[in-house]
Amino acid sequence: MATLEIRDLHVSVDVENGTKEILKGVDLTVKQGETHAIMGPNGSGKSTLAYSIAGHPKYTITSGTVTLDGEDVLEMSVDERARAGMFLAMQYPVEVPGVSVSNFLRTSATALRGEAPKLRTWVKEVKSAMEQLQMDPTFAERNVNEGFSGGEKKRHEILQMELMKPKIAILDETDSGLDVDALRQVSDGVNRVRGTGEVGTLLITHYTRILRYIKPDFVHVFSAGRIVESGGPELADQLEAEGYEKYTKGGAAA
Ligand code: ADP
Ligand code: MG
Ligand code: MG
Repeated sequence: MATLEIRDLHVSVDVENGTKEILKGVDLTVKQGETHAIMGPNGSGKSTLAYSIAGHPKYTITSGTVTLDGEDVLEMSVDERARAGMFLAMQYPVEVPGVSVSNFLRTSATALRGEAPKLRTWVKEVKSAMEQLQMDPTFAERNVNEGFSGGEKKRHEILQMELMKPKIAILDETDSGLDVDALRQVSDGVNRVRGTGEVGTLLITHYTRILRYIKPDFVHVFSAGRIVESGGPELADQLEAEGYEKYTKGGAAA
């Protein structure tokens, strides 16, 4: 079983008058088959954690390690991370002009598998995954992210996840901007992939509502650049009832 290990991760960004430390020693282990939720107030560094693992150039790792089965993820190129089995949805937030969803997905799958998937089976696979996500078939011919609504972006993200079959998936604010129906369809998609038992998921979110549909095995509270508490699903219920106040008192939030 693949294991992602984050050890004492410290991350800074360049700001006008120097650098600012955002992650202040993150420790987390995610194994294939497990679903972890990271929850925390806005500005606590959750997205920074996701971007840092994805290898976004804006974020400087000042100390600590990220490994996948002992292999140094931070030394890998973005492509190598994907080939190692990591799905980092936030890698492709931008428009890809002139590239259709269908071609984009096939290119990604080719890069991952080392050979192009057979066209006929591939078309079927994409079609069935899109149907399950209740996506219109014409979506496949649209250019990646061009004019996508918030909901379409999130569905596209989950479509990629379903087709790429990662060992470890990191989903940042997959619930943001979704109406109740879309939230359910996207959650169903995550649960289908999860049901294979083949993926370890790190679900990052500010709100507890997605956790009504996707029941995490572990919940971690993120505050001021660190995990300040970890527990089971009951911790999400507690956060829903009480909010983050007890973790941010005294201006601890970044
Ligand atoms: P969250 O996802 O929990 O809302 P973020 O990781 O987006 O938090 O941000 C954490 C803190 O780091 C915030 O204070 C934010 O302003 C700052 N930050 C994040 N990215 C950058 C950046 N590229 N440049 C400057 N500050 C940043
Ligand atoms: Mg430390
Ligand atoms: Mg964020």
